[in-house]
Amino acid sequence: MGNSKSHVYLIPIGYDFPEILSDALSEMVSAFLYGQQVHLLAPMKFTPDLLLDDRIDLHDTVLPYVEDPIQVRKYRAQKKKQIEKNNGQPLTIPGELKQMNADIVLSKLHHKLTKDWHGADNAYVIIGLTLRDLCDPMGCQKQIELLERIDRKLESVRDRQRKCATKLRNAMMKGYPKKQKAAQELSKILDIEKDNLIEQKKFEQKKLKKLSKYVTNKTNENHRTSVMSFYRYDPKRDRSSLAVDPGLQADQKVLVKRSCKMIIHHICEMFGMKHCIYFHCRMNGSATNDQQDLSPVHLCPVCLRKLFSCTGIFTTPKVIERYFRMQQCTGGILKECFGEDTSRWFRQRAGTITSAA
Ligand SMILES: [Zn+2]
Ligand SMILES: [Zn+2]
Repeated sequence: MGNSKSHVYLIPIGYDFPEILSDALSEMVSAFLYGQQVHLLAPMKFTPDLLLDDRIDLHDTVLPYVEDPIQVRKYRAQKKKQIEKNNGQPLTIPGELKQMNADIVLSKLHHKLTKDWHGADNAYVIIGLTLRDLCDPMGCQKQIELLERIDRKLESVRDRQRKCATKLRNAMMKGYPKKQKAAQELSKILDIEKDNLIEQKKFEQKKLKKLSKYVTNKTNENHRTSVMSFYRYDPKRDRSSLAVDPGLQADQKVLVKRSCKMIIHHICEMFGMKHCIYFHCRMNGSATNDQQDLSPVHLCPVCLRKLFSCTGIFTTPKVIERYFRMQQCTGGILKECFGEDTSRWFRQRAGTITSAA
């Protein structure tokens, strides 16, 4: 991106994607990426082959790395019983519970772009929007391979540790102080190496656990395609059965707000921006919906500069125009979702810069 010709296409997947959400998303993205062309396209037909059929098999490979062995045994036993109950037939998962396969969606979007549209020749980014749960089996596969590599490394460290211990024993028995000292030092280094690998394994296992369940987005930078799922942002899914139901409208407002915040975060990631560690910022990383709700809609000064260099905003008037556009957006159709404070913040920013300029 970077020149004025850049186009961002938003394309809902399935005709059941709520219009209120797709409208809000395209409004938000076009304000946020002020100066770029943002187009909301007609929905792409949803076909069942986008769904992941072998969810159970996937979990079979993933589980040994994710859970402890006892849990795996329990799971296997449970599955066996269920299949017995089902007269030996494999379990079929109802369609609405199935997850969508991120890779298949991405390849369909890419196909649409290169074949149906004969390859748009200007700069473009295409983003699929979905309310279905998304998973990334290929991502799991890579992660499993990574864990296997770590396992092999650990095994080799342990092997070296055993050899080192033998050397140390020999040196001590024969009374070679220099060799003894060298072996002791080597054993210290190996201990550190092992601890590091164990830490790394723990971290990657956690990542796999998350990956194996769902992803909220997947991007193919080379094809400039991305798919984003808002399934996890529906407040209904976190609510316990005891909590008071605030009603469909209230839920929808939360869903719209979270989705708008998330799409701009992911778009910045598509531009290569990393998570922000400097300030309270839209690019802060968040693990849960609660964490995400606490982070603001706007970018901090550091991340804002990065965005401006991506979208080609280099002059003060443009910066002010963008703030007005953001105010218009969060104070207009999105006001009920974002509240008065958000649009006031953008108005104040525009005001401060105008008076300073
Ligand atoms: Zn992120
Ligand atoms: Zn930031």
